[in-house]
Parts: sequence; structure tokens; C-alpha cells
Amino acid sequence: MRSKSPYSLTRRLGLVFVITLLLIVAQLGYVKYARISDRILEDELNTLQNIVYRFEADLSGLLDVIHKIETDESLDREDRVLAINTLLQPVAELHVAEAPSSALGYYSRHLEAVVAASPWDEMGDTLGVTLEPDHPSEQLYSGGPIQRHISEVLRGHVARYARLVYWQGHPVGHTWASIPIEVYYSKLTPAITRISLVLLIAIASFTLLLRFVLKEITRSTETLGEEMDSLASGSPTYAHQATTDHGVPVEFHPLFRRFAQMSKRVQRLTNELAQSTRLAAFGELATVIVHDIKNPLAAITATAQLGKITAPESAKCQERFEHIIEASEELDNYLKKLLVIAKDREGCGEPVSIASVIKNTLYLWEPMLDRNDVRLEVSIADALPPVTADRAALQQVFLNLLKNAVEAMPSGGKIVLAAAQRRDGVQISILDTGHGIPEDIQPSIFEKFFTTKDQGTGVGLAAAHAFVSELGGEIWFESTSGEGTTFYLQLPVRSSSVEG
Ligand code: ADP
Repeated sequence: MRSKSPYSLTRRLGLVFVITLLLIVAQLGYVKYARISDRILEDELNTLQNIVYRFEADLSGLLDVIHKIETDESLDREDRVLAINTLLQPVAELHVAEAPSSALGYYSRHLEAVVAASPWDEMGDTLGVTLEPDHPSEQLYSGGPIQRHISEVLRGHVARYARLVYWQGHPVGHTWASIPIEVYYSKLTPAITRISLVLLIAIASFTLLLRFVLKEITRSTETLGEEMDSLASGSPTYAHQATTDHGVPVEFHPLFRRFAQMSKRVQRLTNELAQSTRLAAFGELATVIVHDIKNPLAAITATAQLGKITAPESAKCQERFEHIIEASEELDNYLKKLLVIAKDREGCGEPVSIASVIKNTLYLWEPMLDRNDVRLEVSIADALPPVTADRAALQQVFLNLLKNAVEAMPSGGKIVLAAAQRRDGVQISILDTGHGIPEDIQPSIFEKFFTTKDQGTGVGLAAAHAFVSELGGEIWFESTSGEGTTFYLQLPVRSSSVEG
């Protein structure tokens, strides 16, 4: 079976372009050729006209004599022709020499014969010849008095000038000058060569330009293809870099930019998916552990509380039971935090005002900001809709993001906290002017227990991610090394009500 050749847009585009170009160039060439050939013909006819004028100037002084000879009954027609020829031929020979290759003559209407024909060695045999009725000169007597054209005459195909000669107000004959058409064409040859050369150069340069443009298109699509391959293999190089690295033409930049955005998003989603998968496994384990510890722990706390009540007289005993109760409560708190990551929290569905959670968090954190020389700018849009979430957990997320921001600015800086309604929900952004997150660790920061700090736990962002994902929201960041980081929280709004 014959396989179908693959469809190549650039090849077809190139073909259409070349055909169009050839047509345009051919048309232009033809117009130019027509103009040049008209001009050359005009020049030729003007030269012939000048010879005829000069010949006529001499002829006019001889017309009386010529008329006498024409009407001399004592001579036969042939002798009259010869007599007039003897008179005119030297004059004609003189003038024809002015324009090489041309011919010049006089036709007597009365004798109906060619009576002068120069140059003699070429034209002599036409002497005495009577013109056929279809000869163009015959039309002079019935049409206009002057002819300037290319036509077929006794001498063959020529460019010719002819006009009537008047004696006493009557046409008595006509003079003519002609040049063989080959001579006229030979004068066109340099012009044709020049036009062809210019057209060839035009076609060659257009073809080169076209090849270059098509090559650029192909190269850009190939680069984009390589970017796609690297995205598919899990290590995108980010197309926006490719535009400068590979000198991609500006026309493709928007496409590459969008592809870069898309690949970043794909990579973020891929990381999030991996993260959620790991979290899900961890969650299951944590839930089992928490569940198994919770009951014995409750028993320990209850027993300690009972012991405290039943041993009132021993202060030492009271103190020990108190320690047991405190330690149990601490352990219980830790289990609760673990459950935030494990997604098994209870009672997380109340409508919460983002503005009030932010205000409470800042109230707790303001002294800390002052101590660390951090300036704070807050911008909370009016009438934000409430978010359905666990207030305490949400506060914990903000606290953690603020803590990270402050820790990223050891010698002080600025935090800009903003909340506004966006994309059918509430978007909160926390910008800091800290050291930024190095590109190589960016994919890992939401992993639990990932930390770059000596005293860090690596639980904050993992818990925030788990919490926000559970709400159906998103958490992401933008960071530039040395300039700072912005964390974004996008929280969905389920209720249509608006904060008062
Ligand atoms: P921890 O703060 O205990 O290290 P987190 O989960 O909160 O744990 O953060 C994980 C890591 O992410 C941090 O160790 C730090 O390297 C990085 N990080 C988080 N927030 C920022 C920030 N605003 N600026 C720079 N790095 C940050």
C-alpha cells in the first residue's frame, strides 16, 4: 500500500508563496518589457520619420520636374520610372546612410510604381513595382496621411514610417522608411537580459527570505516540541527561557510564555498530587496511631484526675498527678496537630470571617514584628464573604506564614498582607522582602518535615497545604532569590452571604 506523504504546512505555504511570487514577478517583468519595447519602437519610428522629413525637403524642390516626367507621353512607363529614379536615387542614398539597416523610397501614384528605393543593392529590385491593393501604403490614400507601425511589406516584416506627398494640394505619391523587425528586436536584447537578471535576483532573494522564515517557524515549533518533551519527562526547562536561549522570533513569544505558565502549573499540580498521595498514606497511618493512643491517654488522664481527687492529703502526690495530667494534655494537643496534617480533624465547618481571623493573628504577632524590625502593610477588602473553615486551624496557617516571612528577613524588612475577593473565593497574599526560596528546594517546601532551619519542624507548610486542600482551596507561592516571596491562599466561598 502506498503511504500518504505527511502534511507539511510550511512546504505548502512555501509553494503558494513561490507561485504567487512568480506570477507577480512575471507580470512586473512583462509590464517593464512592454514599456521598454514601446520606447525602443518609438525611437526607431522617430529616426525613420527624420530620414523621411529630410528626404522630403529635397524631394519637394523636384516635384515639378517629377510631375513633368510622370506625364510625359513621349516616354513609356519604364523610361519614366528610370528618369525619376535617376533624379531621386542619389538623394535617397544620401539620407538612408544616416540610419544603418534602414530603407527609404518614393512611390509615384501617377505611375503606380516604386521610383526610388535605397539602399540600391538591397532594394533595387523593387524599382517599378506596383503595390498590391492590400499593401499598407495603399491605405494611406483612403485613410490618414501618416503611418507609424510594424507591418508586413515587400521587404518583409518591418517597423515603418510612411506619409503622403502633396503637389499643388493633391497627393501624388508617398515616401517611406523602414527597418527590419530583427534590428528592432536586437535592440531589445540588452533590455530583456537586464529585466531577466533583475527578476532572477528578485526570485532568488525572495526564495532565500522564504526559506529563512520557514526555517525559523520550523525551528520554533521544534523548540516548543522539545519543551513539551521535557515537560512530559517531568523536568521542564521553562519555555520563557527557551525564547532567549534559542533566539525564538518575537511572534512566538506569547505562545512560549503561555506554555511556560502552563508547564509551571502542571509541575505545581504534579507536585501537589505527589504530596497529597504521600499525605493520604501518612494520614491513614497517623489516624490509626492517634486513634490507638487517644483511648489509653484518656484513661491515663482520667486515672490521674481520680488519683488527684482521692489523695488530697499528700501534696507530693497531688503534684505528681498534676504533672501526669499536664503531660497528657500536651500529648493530646500534639495529637490534634498531627490530625490537622492527617486530615482527620473534627468540627471544621463554621463560617469564618477572614478579616477577623487576620486581625486576631496580627494582634498576636505585632510585638514579634516590632522586635524583628519588620514593617507591616495590611489591605483587606470590604465586605469579604465568610469562608467555611476551622477558625483555629486557619489562624494557625496565617501564623505559620507570618512566622516564615519574619524568619526569612533576619535583618528586618516588609510584609504586605492583602485579602480580596477573587476567582469565586477569597484570595489572601502574604508578601515578604526576605531572602526568597532557592529554586532547587521550591518543589519540596510543602512536603512534611521538610525544613532548611536548624530549629524548624517542616510541619507548618505541609499542615497549611493539607488544610487548604481539604477546604477545596489552593496554596502556592512566587519567589525570587534575594528579593522575596509571596504566598497565596485561594479559599473557596460556599455560602452566598457577605461579611457585614
Ligand atoms: P519550618 O518553618 O519549620 O522550616 P515550614 O513547612 O513552615 O517549616 O517551611 C518549610 C521551608 O520552606 C522552610 O524551612 C524554608 O526553607 C521555606 N520557607 C517557607 N516560607 C518561606 C519564606 N517566606 N521565605 C523563605 N523560605 C521560606
